[in-house]
Amino acid sequence: MDLHTIDHILSPRTRTDIPVDAAAILAGGTWIYSEPQPAINRLIDITALKWDPLTITEHGLDIAATCTIEQLISADYPAEWGATKMFRQCADALAASIKVWNTATVGGNICLALPAGSMIALAAALEGTLTIWRPDGSDRTTTITEFVTGPQQTTLQPGEILRSVHLPAAALRQHVVFRRISQAPQGRSGALLIGRATETGYVLAITAATDRPILIGLGSPGATQPAVNGIPQQRWYTDPHGEADWRQHVTTLLAQDIIAELAKD
Ligand SMILES: Cc1cc2nc3c(=O)[nH]c(=O)nc-3n(C[C@H](O)[C@H](O)[C@H](O)COP(=O)(O)OP(=O)(O)OC[C@H]3O[C@@H](n4cnc5c(N)ncnc54)[C@H](O)[C@@H]3O)c2cc1C
Repeated sequence: MDLHTIDHILSPRTRTDIPVDAAAILAGGTWIYSEPQPAINRLIDITALKWDPLTITEHGLDIAATCTIEQLISADYPAEWGATKMFRQCADALAASIKVWNTATVGGNICLALPAGSMIALAAALEGTLTIWRPDGSDRTTTITEFVTGPQQTTLQPGEILRSVHLPAAALRQHVVFRRISQAPQGRSGALLIGRATETGYVLAITAATDRPILIGLGSPGATQPAVNGIPQQRWYTDPHGEADWRQHVTTLLAQDIIAELAKD
């Protein structure tokens, strides 16, 4: 869509080129260009910064905010990082075609903060740490569960830019199980859960069913149902893709299924 309110698109080459009042960040533009943006008259195109999309080190994986979904799922990862097999499942969970994957970015998905943002689920399940550039030149780090506070709500302050997501190698080596349900075959996720076996038990990331990502730690499979029951009632999300009570019900079933599968190993 043409955005007739936009007068300028700035293409910064370095951090210092970014205006301190960088109000509207343009990444892949797959959401920005999909609906009118009457409050915006200038876009800052952060893809011009040409960040390396993916950096693999002994400490883990650094995903630049501008890494596209396609780059994330088509890269080669160390064989022992078994959790990376779930990247493709997260891409498939988007109600978006392969064409959109070529442009849509990981950072754009996280900053848009839709409950069905599957890159949010991925980062939550794998202990992702977000690095955010502040307009004063400093950085701050945060977790995804702190960052996303509600549907299309984050802790991003004016002028802040998500720079990258770090996934630790230890989490990438662990066994993960992914489950998702939607009310239509190609529909937006109604519930998207990822479980991970840790050294002391399990962690379960619950997204799409709730208004913000929820991460729960479980000492044993028997703790699953009480933990899901303990999620505050107001967290269960209702939108045209599912009612809160349906989402709560299917989340309980998917959570038990995930933990049962992880417990088999
Ligand atoms: C057909 C279709 C289906 C879709 N299905 C889904 C779906 O199932 N789930 C879902 O979550 N989304 C979906 N989307 C929305 C969108 O395509 C994805 O969320 C995508 O990953 C957004 O990335 P982008 O790079 O295109 O973001 P953009 O459109 O460029 O930006 C999205 C928002 O994030 C901000 N932003 C982007 N990057 C940064 C950054 N680094 N720092 C600070 N702010 C930033 C922008 O200012 C804007 O507000 C769909 C879109 C289409 C067209």
